[in-house]
Amino acid sequence: MVLRTLGTRPSRGQVLVNCSVFDGTGDGTVGDQAIWIRSDGTVGRVGDRQVVIDAADDDPEPIVVVDLAGGYVTPGLINMHVHLGLALPGAMSASLDRNDPAALALHMAGSARRTLHAGVTTARLVGETAYTDFALRLAIQSGSLPGPRLFTAGHALCCTGGHGHDADGLEADGADGFRRATREQLRAGADLIKVCVSGGLAGEHEAIETPQLTDDELSAVVTTAHQWGRTVTAHAGPAEVIERVIQLGVDGIEHGYQITPEVAADMARRGTWYVPTITVSRCREFFEEHQVPPWMMERALGAGPRHWESLQHAITAGVRIVMGSDMPPDASFEGTTATVREMEFMAEAGMTAVEVLRAATSRAAEWLDATGKIGTLTPGAAGDLLVLDADPAADVSALRTMHAVVQGGRAMRDDRGLWTKRRPV
Ligand SMILES: [Zn+2]
Repeated sequence: MVLRTLGTRPSRGQVLVNCSVFDGTGDGTVGDQAIWIRSDGTVGRVGDRQVVIDAADDDPEPIVVVDLAGGYVTPGLINMHVHLGLALPGAMSASLDRNDPAALALHMAGSARRTLHAGVTTARLVGETAYTDFALRLAIQSGSLPGPRLFTAGHALCCTGGHGHDADGLEADGADGFRRATREQLRAGADLIKVCVSGGLAGEHEAIETPQLTDDELSAVVTTAHQWGRTVTAHAGPAEVIERVIQLGVDGIEHGYQITPEVAADMARRGTWYVPTITVSRCREFFEEHQVPPWMMERALGAGPRHWESLQHAITAGVRIVMGSDMPPDASFEGTTATVREMEFMAEAGMTAVEVLRAATSRAAEWLDATGKIGTLTPGAAGDLLVLDADPAADVSALRTMHAVVQGGRAMRDDRGLWTKRRPV
């Protein structure tokens, strides 16, 4: 995959001192560290303070020192299931007219900025509207607008009347129709393809169990995407549907509301990715706030217990799990954001804090074919990092104490003004 989204804007070369670091790959946090971020915005070296400062002599530009005052550093988060133009049935739909291109673009730009400030330095978009996501990807990449690095699927694909059709999913029918719909996303510049193969929570006339694509339709999507070097991820709920689509070559499953131990074992054996989006079936407060209709509230919360078991089966089987919130990444949830709450749920379901952190950093980067470029704090990776008051490798709830967000070496959020106190070496 071509990493068009990884352009870096110039930053000031800097050495961050007085911090503990989880680098996205290790088994835990290492204390008393320093991080050199080169003037091109990439990580130069992480380690002992004096060694790092000496290494930073190689930077062509003058280096400044930023004192992180004993903070804990983790790579910026990668949220793998985001809709920047999300408008659930109810009040959200009433307040956003997705047929108004100007309103939609401004809404998505605002959502992108808030997502970044919530610590999400990269987002994978799995269903947007009117190709606005491609213009936004370019605007963020060029530095015109603040936002996460974007990997996007363009429109999600669905059958006529299928899941997401009322949220601007692109409707197609028959193998030819799905082949064309896939190619249209590739033409627009899609980094991946998203296809809805069964019903979901937000479609009034369907059930989670409704199968929606025929084998030849899905095969047309998978073959076309793979020929172009793109992955395919499927919105899928029932175990039988998931089993069938992974046999047809789908790379990842979104939601997986009804995974069984057998299906989980098969996913693990095949290396299928899983984005549980566990928050979507346990967010009564959020749904009430946004006045979703009663049928959706009932279906979403009703799916909760079985969805939770799915996640636990996947953990037990060793499925490759990554983090995605589905709900707006910055949305407020039980005293934190949807992104952090999703990570807490993953830990509550049985993953260790380090496994959850990896699922939201280096593991996610692996699926995006961006290993070593994002999701880790290793030499050559983008200088995307968060500063916290507590150790996230001990407890992911430490992310609730986030007070700075750095992207490509630039402090995009700095609640305590640490970067204003920077000084020469
Ligand atoms: Zn979604």
